[in-house]
Amino acid sequence: MRTLIRNGTVVNATGRLTADVLVDGETIAAVAAPGLFTEADNIIDATGKYVIPGGIDAHTHMEMPFGGTSSNDTFATGTTAAAWGGTTTIIDFAVQARGTSLLSTLDKWHAKAGGHCAIDYAFHMIISEVDDNSLKEMAPCIDAGVNSFKMFMAYPGVFYSTDGEILRAMQQATETGSMIMMHAENGIAIDQLVAQALAAGYGDPVHHGLTRPPELEGEATSRAIQLAKVTRAPLYIVHLSARHALAAVAEARNAGQNVFAETCPQYLYLSIEDMARPDFEGAKFVASPPLRPKDHQADLWRGLRTNDLSVVSTDHCPFCFKDQKELGRGDFSKIPNGMPGVEHRMDLLHQGVVAGEISLERWVEISSTTPARMFGLHGRKGTVAPGADADIVVYDPAAKQTISALTHHMNVDYSAYEGMEITGKVDTVLSRGSVVIADGAFHGREGHGQFLKRDLSQYLI
Ligand SMILES: [Zn+2]
Repeated sequence: MRTLIRNGTVVNATGRLTADVLVDGETIAAVAAPGLFTEADNIIDATGKYVIPGGIDAHTHMEMPFGGTSSNDTFATGTTAAAWGGTTTIIDFAVQARGTSLLSTLDKWHAKAGGHCAIDYAFHMIISEVDDNSLKEMAPCIDAGVNSFKMFMAYPGVFYSTDGEILRAMQQATETGSMIMMHAENGIAIDQLVAQALAAGYGDPVHHGLTRPPELEGEATSRAIQLAKVTRAPLYIVHLSARHALAAVAEARNAGQNVFAETCPQYLYLSIEDMARPDFEGAKFVASPPLRPKDHQADLWRGLRTNDLSVVSTDHCPFCFKDQKELGRGDFSKIPNGMPGVEHRMDLLHQGVVAGEISLERWVEISSTTPARMFGLHGRKGTVAPGADADIVVYDPAAKQTISALTHHMNVDYSAYEGMEITGKVDTVLSRGSVVIADGAFHGREGHGQFLKRDLSQYLI
């Protein structure tokens, strides 16, 4: 089966050119001058459109247990929604439950995802319990293609690790060449502020944000960086939201440390004002770290330009407003933390191109090429080049669309971006050579997606 994508503007992180892309089977066979190839089983006209590598969302939570409930997208529905939005790979988090091993956790997540994904997928591992056994299991996890380990400085009693535990895991990461990913918020201090707010009768959603001030994200980020420096471990800060944390990351990077960070679309487009919407609507925007005052957004866009922020992921973790978010009516600390977003990351970041915040090439880089290199998928993913997997998006930069829960494909009853007008729209999506989205319809299938064993990060200096 040969597919020819004709006459589009091929955009890679390194530049753009007008070219035809020939796909043979599951891989890209050639990127050639227009008209060089004429024969194919399937011809896609990309005139006036971009031809980009499929998006890689390096931070999703499908079917994740949290706060007595579970995120509402399955691997089937979540990866289908991702495909609709031009994302062809997700890296999801396997979550170690206390009292269980890392390897049994990995088996459990393979059982959940295997045979259900519409696009390719990989895993990070969340270490909830640092002990001799967990540390010993990091090496076999790496052999199994899972070489990034997430830890939490937040959520005491649930995912939280002490500084000593973090130090030990970092030493093991250095030993094995793997990466520590950090949720950097000072959960011990935050829990005091939360208890004080609730005792004073402040139960509305906005207090979720007010009790997690940006200083406590900045402090935890700095502390994680110092622990990484002492242990010489590579460090990746997840979902960075505050300028305080960005300053710490920039300083470490300027000093040559292997420190990287991602942000998420919600921190670029939404703010704490959304959490203050009346009638409990603010609960739709409860995630951790919380949305920040608007003036942080310009700093995050600058960080994306200077590469102090290298990746944009979604932290997709959808809970329905009805019955799930409502668990926290009157007590914000009981609102499940998380927001939907896997479907709209590429579109939302394209608005940054439209607005002149980032270049076209940078759009591709932060949404696909860098996540591929960061998490050991480069060569196969993140580029439109001969030999790479044919994960390709034909994107129409001139099309208009309005985001709405009525039309999105995520399994959740609201959109955080309801009514937002977007310039640009996914036209056609190929996953390993198979058309999954075309002509406004889903042509993929549950189980097409394969598990990706990842190599070590290709970014370390
Ligand atoms: Zn997350």
